[in-house]
Amino acid sequence: MIQRIFCIANQKGGVGKTTTTVNLAAGLAQIGQRVLVVDLDPQGNATMGSGVDKRALELTVYDVLLENASLTEARSRSPKGGYDVLGANRELAGAEVELVALERRERRLRSALQAVQADYDFVLIDCPPSLSMLTLNGLCAAHGVIVPMQCEYFALEGLSDLVNTIKQVHANLNPELQIIGLLRVMFDPRITLQQQVSEQLRSHFGNKVFDTVIPRNVRLAEAPSYGQPGVVFDPASKGAQAFVEFAREVVQRLGQPA
Ligand code: ADP
Ligand code: MG
Repeated sequence: MIQRIFCIANQKGGVGKTTTTVNLAAGLAQIGQRVLVVDLDPQGNATMGSGVDKRALELTVYDVLLENASLTEARSRSPKGGYDVLGANRELAGAEVELVALERRERRLRSALQAVQADYDFVLIDCPPSLSMLTLNGLCAAHGVIVPMQCEYFALEGLSDLVNTIKQVHANLNPELQIIGLLRVMFDPRITLQQQVSEQLRSHFGNKVFDTVIPRNVRLAEAPSYGQPGVVFDPASKGAQAFVEFAREVVQRLGQPA
């Protein structure tokens, strides 16, 4: 049974969504969880970073959203990651427009996931850097949102749009949806400003801020070019260890009341 479906979302680009998705997936796999990664970004970075060649895919999440293929037909396996991937490539950019004319347009992913309920413990949805129809499909399908963020000056400001969108989806489309937590990523404790913003986050959001902090670590940035999550590419690195720790925290939090 799928315990939890999480969107990894933040409408800013380059904040660490994809890195969080593939490394949390690999971390969860390492501690025995069955995981599916859904790549909802036409850039296909989560697909490539999982070692699946987006250019060679015959079926992708695009076909699933348009109901030309089932998820079972379209998924593949990350060769090193230990989890499954519903891949994406540039074709997905067209779905944005094509979905508008279709019925249940924001619920396509939700329906598709129901067919694989029995296969996974966790589904992680890597969202594009926008609050678009694709992201909406992710939010409608999910139990919760994990928000990776850098502790920079404008971090809190950018968050309010996302929080409002989540509230609206919660009120109108998906009453299950909630913010699971904010994950501090690319953290450098030597930078005073980052420490200050980190404190601010804690005081605003309390226990919605994950205890685990992901450090800035070059091995995490190098891993995608080898088609591997950092957790697998260099398990001894600080970044990899932080993500395995994060996977444990996610599993542990599920046992506690929200
Ligand atoms: P997004 O999916 O939000 O656009 P990415 O996960 O692709 O963001 O990250 C943006 C860039 O930052 C990538 O080049 C990635 O390798 C790098 N990066 C992400 N997290 C870290 C980290 N903890 N340490 C070092 N580099 C990182
Ligand atoms: Mg990304």
